[in-house]
Amino acid sequence: MKTLVKGGRLVDPVAGIDANLDVLVENGFVGRIGEHIEPDGARVVDARGCIVAPGFIDMHVHLREPGQTHKETIATGTAAAVAGGFTAVACMPNTEPALDSAAIVSEVMRRADAAGLARVYPVGAITRGRAGTELAPYHLLAQAGCVAFSDDGSTPRDARVLRNAARYASDLGCAFISHCEDPDLKGDAVMNEGAASMRLGLAGSPGLAEDVVVARDLLIAADCEKVWHIAHVTTATSLDLIRWARTRGVRVSCEVTPHHLVFLDDRFDDYRAESKVNPPLRGAHDRDALRAAVLDGTVDALATDHAPHGLDEKAQLLSAAPVGFGGLEIAIGAYAFALPQLAPARFVELLSVNPARILGVPGGTLGVGSPGDVSVFADRPWTVDARLFHSKGKNTPFDGLTLPRRAVATVVDGAVVFEHGRVLPRQEAVA
Ligand SMILES: [Zn+2]
Repeated sequence: MKTLVKGGRLVDPVAGIDANLDVLVENGFVGRIGEHIEPDGARVVDARGCIVAPGFIDMHVHLREPGQTHKETIATGTAAAVAGGFTAVACMPNTEPALDSAAIVSEVMRRADAAGLARVYPVGAITRGRAGTELAPYHLLAQAGCVAFSDDGSTPRDARVLRNAARYASDLGCAFISHCEDPDLKGDAVMNEGAASMRLGLAGSPGLAEDVVVARDLLIAADCEKVWHIAHVTTATSLDLIRWARTRGVRVSCEVTPHHLVFLDDRFDDYRAESKVNPPLRGAHDRDALRAAVLDGTVDALATDHAPHGLDEKAQLLSAAPVGFGGLEIAIGAYAFALPQLAPARFVELLSVNPARILGVPGGTLGVGSPGDVSVFADRPWTVDARLFHSKGKNTPFDGLTLPRRAVATVVDGAVVFEHGRVLPRQEAVA
């Protein structure tokens, strides 16, 4: 099987390429790069007017399967991924049951393979059942395919447990990924603590709830010499702590989400849960610090924290509604909306090169012999209509917004799995 991505502007910072070049993928791998490659029987993707990049990897996604398939399935989540321009996702372990055994991880990978869309890299739990007490079997989980470990969704309360976990897993290259929110400082908060929460009389979670955990986890990373990644950073102080840790030799990377780059904590006047998310949307000082940190190189990766829920669930009272919303299908548009000055090469670094490096997975370049995973996107404005999402999560604070950038075609393992607005599972694409 041959696929030719033709006529686009190839941006591959690893190979040092930013030029109008065609990419020929043969048998799942990049076979040739050059000017005006003849199709010679290949399936042609028309990339004129588009940027062609090594496949985008979203390193923070909740696929909800097993256990909450009314919110999302591996098939619908990976359909949303390829429709959003992603060729791979890392899926978080807060499923039911949690991803804390090799058998469950193998089953997730089998179902991802059957769906035939994006590649799926499971993130294993740090503690059994994500309960924060008993260590998960990291070596077995890594053998089964886990690329990192996290109790994402919550923060292990017991620093001793986390330190033991980091020591026990220290010989594994897989990073620990921290969800940083001190559960005691956060309490029953539904939003950020600040002027808006005071005015509305709603319980707020201070930025401090994040900062103290970032500090703790970075000190544990230093103590155990463990590779670490801080998920969804939202405060200026967290960014300063990460910069400080790097000066001390800690190998730490971090990510920011589309919603924290775009929105502020002023979205709760109607007492609706549409924008309820953990960690919460912050004030302008923090949001602007995040934007600056993406531009100055402090931030390594852009990741969605795609966290779909049913519309009925999100329609509950603010206090009762679940946190999060889908992000895969608005992500690249939202990043360009928040940071229009971001150069294409840096954009590709944040979405492909660095996530591949942090997770230790193939990709991040389209050099000859690399995996045939290609993201084709264009600066063509479009208006978000969440009803049209491939994800089961049809709720997003981005609904109705016009975004400047969108996915045009997605190639995974040499097969065109998204084009002309349609998702094409691999079996169908091959036929
Ligand atoms: Zn999280």
